[in-house]
Amino acid sequence: MSLTSWGMYPRIKNKKTSLKSLQKLKEYMSQSNEFISFGNGRSYGDSAINEEILHVRQYNHFLEFDEERGHLTCQAGVLLSDILDSVVKRGWFLKVTPGTKLITVGGAIASDVHGKNHHIEGCFSECVEEFSIMLEDGEISTCKKGDELFLATCGGMGLTGVILTATISLKRINSQYIRQKTIKTSNLQETFDAFEAHSEQPYSVAWIDCLAKDENLGKCLLMVGDFADDGDLNYKSKKKFSIPFNFPSFALNTLSVKAFNWLYYAKAPNGVSKQKVGIDTFFYPLDAIGNWNRIYGKNGFTQYQFILPKDVSYDGLKEILTKISESGKGSFLAVLKLYGEENENYLSFPIEGYSLALDFKIEDGLFELLDELDEIVVKYDGRIYLTKDVRVSEDTFERGYPQIDKFREYRKKNNMREKFNSLQSKRVNI
Ligand SMILES: Cc1cc2nc3c(=O)[nH]c(=O)nc-3n(C[C@H](O)[C@H](O)[C@H](O)COP(=O)(O)OP(=O)(O)OC[C@H]3O[C@@H](n4cnc5c(N)ncnc54)[C@H](O)[C@@H]3O)c2cc1C
Repeated sequence: MSLTSWGMYPRIKNKKTSLKSLQKLKEYMSQSNEFISFGNGRSYGDSAINEEILHVRQYNHFLEFDEERGHLTCQAGVLLSDILDSVVKRGWFLKVTPGTKLITVGGAIASDVHGKNHHIEGCFSECVEEFSIMLEDGEISTCKKGDELFLATCGGMGLTGVILTATISLKRINSQYIRQKTIKTSNLQETFDAFEAHSEQPYSVAWIDCLAKDENLGKCLLMVGDFADDGDLNYKSKKKFSIPFNFPSFALNTLSVKAFNWLYYAKAPNGVSKQKVGIDTFFYPLDAIGNWNRIYGKNGFTQYQFILPKDVSYDGLKEILTKISESGKGSFLAVLKLYGEENENYLSFPIEGYSLALDFKIEDGLFELLDELDEIVVKYDGRIYLTKDVRVSEDTFERGYPQIDKFREYRKKNNMREKFNSLQSKRVNI
């Protein structure tokens, strides 16, 4: 059978085994060829894809909840949405959450995901107290911050072993609502000024119109906010509407993206507007539409996400947005975020600066455009996010991640290279 990640590209035939018990996993570990762990397939590219896949999603029990301290221990296949369903009503929330709650705890650790509050709380690994992992010899190791296995596994894209359980710390909340402010800007300089002016807000994210040109290049809607304090914790997951089939690929073109961008920007009031919105609306707007990846058609799509150091973010983004807008290859989703200090993990993506994420449907000429964008990213000492990637070259990847040699050495020394591999790890030679 074939299995793909969220971008629906590439699609290759693979053999799938499900993680059901530790004993079975131990046997699988000694008998299998190389394989890669697969969580809930919300990574966009080929980091969870190989000819052999170990499905971890069914390994999904809650093990312990220390309600006083907000420490939760669970198996790695538990979804963040399952966690929210049981902890929000008790006054707890995830310290760090990405823009979808439909990912596993194992996937959150392996990609060391970040959210709208990286500038304040850092990556997911910051809230990981400890985790257990099965290594290639079938041994189970428990590790904590500071251990080399922790540094290599958080952000290590499943290439050090199979994460089995984790204890994560949660944050106290006193409402299921967020007080959100939306700031409308007319160009890139205003966008950067608005981010900096609101950087004390715990959460911030901007939607950029990536087809805007000239004096409007970089215009955006910046959403910032924090939890309200009204004592209402009666959270219920929003029901979702699903896209029933793949759209024809011609449905998404420069014109439809332009029309969407125009409407989305135009309907927001000028200046600053305020709203009180629920957790799902603020953190997970895309989860409201099941299978939204189908709008890109059967050839699939990819997300291009890069980050640039803060001092060159403005110049680099200007160059990249100009190139995209000239290419006419539009993206509905163009998300700009502010990031705080880098952590010590070998392959975690965030550095202090700004990142932009753009979705593009797979079509002729796309990879050539992305190669050109890579050159600009490398020129400004930036890097590409592995969990979104499906095509970056070894050279571009290496130049962005100065700790890559330590990671490679660690994998080699511990015989991990023979057992844990994805299409991506082979392509970028890690
Ligand atoms: C709508 C949407 C919004 C998103 N927003 C963000 C965002 O804001 N910030 C962000 O950082 N990411 C974001 N992502 C990406 C997503 O959070 C990551 O790709 C995440 O890792 C997916 O987790 P998963 O459980 O689906 O894992 P998969 O996609 O199945 O796997 C991802 C990686 O984790 C590894 N892995 C999974 N489980 C295990 C395990 N048990 N042991 C070892 N390795 C394992 C896989 O081998 C693979 O390398 C978004 C994705 C979507 C679809």
